[in-house]
Amino acid sequence: MIKYVIQLKAEQFLFYYMNYMEEKNMAYVITDDCINCGACESECPVECIKEVDGKYVIGKEDCIDCGACAGVCPVDAAKAEE
Ligand code: SF4
Ligand code: SF4
Repeated sequence: MIKYVIQLKAEQFLFYYMNYMEEKNMAYVITDDCINCGACESECPVECIKEVDGKYVIGKEDCIDCGACAGVCPVDAAKAEE
């Protein structure tokens, strides 16, 4: 009985952990529609948008999925990753 309960808890933990990791990995991306205006860079609260070789990119590991970049983009190039 105890073994069954422990196994059930472990499965529940794994389920919640997998969901957590999936949500954590959500990020915004900048698509090819970007016109390199730079408006999004200063809006990002965690400063994870950088200009690299003349193109703006989002550091996926640091993005907190707030959507501020999408709110200021004039050409709708910053989008939630699908
Ligand atoms: S969604 Fe928020 S945290 Fe992520 S890149 Fe855009 S402004 Fe930065
Ligand atoms: S605001 Fe939009 S068009 Fe301007 S640099 Fe950011 S993603 Fe590109």
